[in-house]
Amino acid sequence: MALIKKARIDKLKHKANELFSRTIDQHITLAVTGLSRSGKTAFITSLVNQLINEGNDTRLSFFDPVHQGSFVAAKRVPQKHFHVPRFDYDGAMTALTAEPAKWPEPTHGISELRLAIRYQPNSLLKYATDMATLTIDITDYPGEWLLDLPMLKQTYQEWSEQTQALLKSAPRSAYSKVFLAKLCEIDPFAPASEELLANLAQEYTELLHTFRHELGLSVIQPGRFILPGELAGAPLLEFFPFPDLSSLDANDYQNAADDSFIGMLRSRYLEYKEQVVRKFYQQHFVRFDRQIVLADCLTALNKGKESFADLEHAINMILESYSYGKSGLLSRLFSPKIDKLLFAATKVDHVTPEQHAPLVSLINQLIYKSKHQLNYDAVEVKTLAISSVKATQTGTINHQGKQVPVIQGQRLVNSKKTAESLTEKMTVFPGYVPDTLPNDEYWEKNAFNFINFSPMAGLTKHQCLPHVRMDQVLQFLLADKMI
Ligand code: GDP
Repeated sequence: MALIKKARIDKLKHKANELFSRTIDQHITLAVTGLSRSGKTAFITSLVNQLINEGNDTRLSFFDPVHQGSFVAAKRVPQKHFHVPRFDYDGAMTALTAEPAKWPEPTHGISELRLAIRYQPNSLLKYATDMATLTIDITDYPGEWLLDLPMLKQTYQEWSEQTQALLKSAPRSAYSKVFLAKLCEIDPFAPASEELLANLAQEYTELLHTFRHELGLSVIQPGRFILPGELAGAPLLEFFPFPDLSSLDANDYQNAADDSFIGMLRSRYLEYKEQVVRKFYQQHFVRFDRQIVLADCLTALNKGKESFADLEHAINMILESYSYGKSGLLSRLFSPKIDKLLFAATKVDHVTPEQHAPLVSLINQLIYKSKHQLNYDAVEVKTLAISSVKATQTGTINHQGKQVPVIQGQRLVNSKKTAESLTEKMTVFPGYVPDTLPNDEYWEKNAFNFINFSPMAGLTKHQCLPHVRMDQVLQFLLADKMI
């Protein structure tokens, strides 16, 4: 009798399971972005690591499925799109667990990784099934690519004028003079030399690299020039802004021959918008359900006033991709479907714990202007200060009779003699993070000291990486899909 009853229940469960798979959303596409060096590779590595090693010394107490015991296990499964490169999780873990430990290779283009999470439903669904699976497609892509969105509504002339204005103002102007002088020598209506175009585009690209990596600036356009992905070397990336287009006769400009300098620059710009910018939004962006935007505010604070102002500008440009209310450019063009947006300040292990709250308050202010443009009905927004792979320990020291909070870690020192990175142990109070957008007084004091740390020694592949608030990240992004 009991056997018959059990068989019937099993049959019912099987039927319900079938129904469940068909009707319940068990799939989520998670997109991770941020400007170069903002910490995307470290973030995805840690997110995957925390989930697949859950149980081995995990610290995920703010992630309900783990806290309530309904999380069963997670594993990597083959990704859906075979034409998109795979996120190199194994390579990243090999670097972090090497002796001495190294940071993984940063993001250069788009990549994907798929995870399957098994969990026991706690809601009414538990009467239908014992076990459910949530499949997560994680996509990693450079934030620089989002900086190109405004180009979709600009003509070549408008874009040139705006970009020339940037090149002519501090701090960029000191570096762009020679390049701008060369452009002034060119007759825009003369037949174009492909070689000269290629050389000048190369020079413009080098300038963009200098702005990003030496000056620590964030507004880099076109974004693909510094992170071309599979387009490296393509003529599509060989254009640049041309000076003083408004001084040309409007008719002459409109009718410029296709093979003239200006004709060629204009058509490459249009092609770039169609083949690169529009295609990215059509092929990838519209698929994303949830988005994480990472920002390294601490490095910008350390680099100074201009770098920080530029980061603020870039964040506003990036967030334009999510402000798709009824009148937004994006909704008109592509109708995206992102319903949750997490904005995280990374590398918070670089400051002492009492500075975390000011950092969150600072990023709230940074995104405030965009935040109220975001469509709250469509997108739920959260801000967090996190460290994907914690590289420091926190503590206090006694300084002139007072307890002072400090962090301790292995500082990375680039040795020019051996071209290798050496480390030295350091205990520091790196400084104060302002809780509002910094004023001149803050910049005059130069109050913040950012140090590059190497990852902690002794990490292993099958244990969870040390982190700060990755559990709150998982709670916001996944927990509502695992009830
Ligand atoms: P990506 O270009 O956005 O992929 O950036 P990465 O993930 O490669 O990170 C760039 C660099 O930031 C790394 O090489 C590390 O030096 C540093 N970094 C990233 N995440 C953390 C973190 O959580 N803590 C610390 N201390 N450093 C980090």
